[in-house]
Amino acid sequence: MLSIILRAIGVSKASAWTPSYFRRFTLSSQLCLNYAKLDDEKRRAYLEKNGARKKSRLLADPDFREKEYQRTRDFHKISKHKEEFVLRYALYRWIRRCSWVCTELPWKSYRPIYYNHRVEHLCTGCAWTRRNGLRLSWARDVGASNSYDESDSHEYLCGACYSQRGWNEAMPAGYEDIRLLKDLVKRKKQLDDTTFKKVSCARHQKTQSTCDSI
Ligand SMILES: [Zn+2]
Repeated sequence: MLSIILRAIGVSKASAWTPSYFRRFTLSSQLCLNYAKLDDEKRRAYLEKNGARKKSRLLADPDFREKEYQRTRDFHKISKHKEEFVLRYALYRWIRRCSWVCTELPWKSYRPIYYNHRVEHLCTGCAWTRRNGLRLSWARDVGASNSYDESDSHEYLCGACYSQRGWNEAMPAGYEDIRLLKDLVKRKKQLDDTTFKKVSCARHQKTQSTCDSI
């Protein structure tokens, strides 16, 4: 929140992240800028008002409804082959299916947090808080402690902004070339076995040297 206020008055430098492709699809850049300048309460009121207006128009206006459906279809048609879209949904599917993907893989600067309910966080990439929150957010520098809470003590990215980093940066160390869940599982097993062998070998050598010195 602080970064948005500072950015709005020109104190902090602009985010290194531009509004994502997905966000640009739904909002003009001017609207994004206006939205980012609002404080939390005004932003929520604005979204709720717009959401309610759109919902009632969808129910009452068949032409508008058809245009919105067509817009959604066009969006999926255009984006389904884009790398950031494929990456984003691959990560989402894997994390939803396997909880260890969040907690046991060597993620780089951000780690996924998958909640059992939607949680609102400000995305520092697009300066946007998704209305009603997200199940999956990416928290910066939370390390391997997995001691997550729902407070705003971390910096977060939404899935759209995180996937803009590309496969090499977004995937855990040692998993950059993985594109399928079955290969992810296989790679984890290989890496776990290698680590286990190294630890066993080191323990054996330590025991051996202790025995030799007696
Ligand atoms: Zn974002």
